[in-house]
Amino acid sequence: MAAMKILVQKFGGTSVATLERMQKVREKVEDGLGRADKVVAVLSARAGDTDNLLALAGQWSKNPDRAECDVLASTGEQVSVALFTMLLKDGGIKARSLLACQIPVVTDDSFGRARIRSIGSEALRAFLDRYDVLVVTGFQGCTEDGRVTTLGRGGSDTSAVALAAALGSVECEIYTDVDGVYTTDPNICSAARKMDRVAYSEMLEMASMGAKVLHIRSVEFAQKYNVPVRVRSTFNDDPGTLVTQEDSSMEALLVSGIAYDRDQARVTLHDVPDVPGVAAAVFGPLSEKGVLVDMIVQNTSLDGLTDITFTISRKDLKHTLEITAEVAAKTGAAEVVHDVNVAKVSAIGVGMRNHSGVAARAFAALTQEGINILMISTSEIKITILIQEKYVELAVRILHDTFGLDWDVA
Ligand code: ASP
Ligand code: MG
Repeated sequence: MAAMKILVQKFGGTSVATLERMQKVREKVEDGLGRADKVVAVLSARAGDTDNLLALAGQWSKNPDRAECDVLASTGEQVSVALFTMLLKDGGIKARSLLACQIPVVTDDSFGRARIRSIGSEALRAFLDRYDVLVVTGFQGCTEDGRVTTLGRGGSDTSAVALAAALGSVECEIYTDVDGVYTTDPNICSAARKMDRVAYSEMLEMASMGAKVLHIRSVEFAQKYNVPVRVRSTFNDDPGTLVTQEDSSMEALLVSGIAYDRDQARVTLHDVPDVPGVAAAVFGPLSEKGVLVDMIVQNTSLDGLTDITFTISRKDLKHTLEITAEVAAKTGAAEVVHDVNVAKVSAIGVGMRNHSGVAARAFAALTQEGINILMISTSEIKITILIQEKYVELAVRILHDTFGLDWDVA
């Protein structure tokens, strides 16, 4: 007998928010059943439910217990799978709901940001012998000893990709309220285009820059287990964007997308002694306190003194300034200055690996518009510049055009 063809489809919070929308979701699942033998539908909580639940925790307790927060937040998904399964059954489909702990989706015990360790795929397959559609809670997990966990905000994408990997799903479809992944944010650049395909590595760079279509860990998972992920809309029939392994046709394109992030603050320690151990003295305490440092630049030294500049998320600024003040006193740095009116813009593309001159073209284009570049960092497939925040939209549009991503370009 031919192997059972299983399709995993994930539906986000806006797709399951109301009865009318869930009826659209039912159509997508029926469509999925036409293309595969069985469907595993992974659902998020209805839009706003998770926020409301977590707000309750804040009303009940000054310092809500983290494990109980997960018990609470995970109920949002429990509501949507129950409601949706009713709809499927009313439509004559053999379906049942499954909570993560009934499968189980086993995670570690980092409440609020648990990582998946294993999935009971045999049990799932046994259920699939009896049902055509399994409606599974996204976002949830459970520890080895049966405590409820959640995977972090937006974690349903990761649940879906993990289930797809465990079941050998042909593809993992992520249904949302946008048509797919765009070359940049269409809200600030009307020339943005939907991409047909994007490499995992590019998607990882875009997600970390705030292209919030996919939970970043789901992309890491998909890359690791080579699960093709298709981002598409619940509300039309567009094929969406396939997130997949890179190939030579993707490399032909120099730049695939432009991402940006306004959540940046820049901190500079002036005139730190240029001796071994100073960078460690600065960044050690920051990492101990959980501050994520993004771009780092150290100047060449003059008279044995140098400047160290780095960027962080704005919410970490107060904390960072406290730590750097201490470090400055210890190391004898002259002063610490900061700036919150900065933002970063990145050009991303696997094609950069084999082509030179991308950075030069980007800098030339920005110079023409009189945009000053404050910091630069590059990786194999990405060039990032830090600029004044007021220029973000202009810089995104300029780079989008410079690298031939605009609509009108053939
Ligand atoms: N319901 C969860 C959240 O709002 C998980 C998800 O939607 O992916 O973060
Ligand atoms: Mg999401």
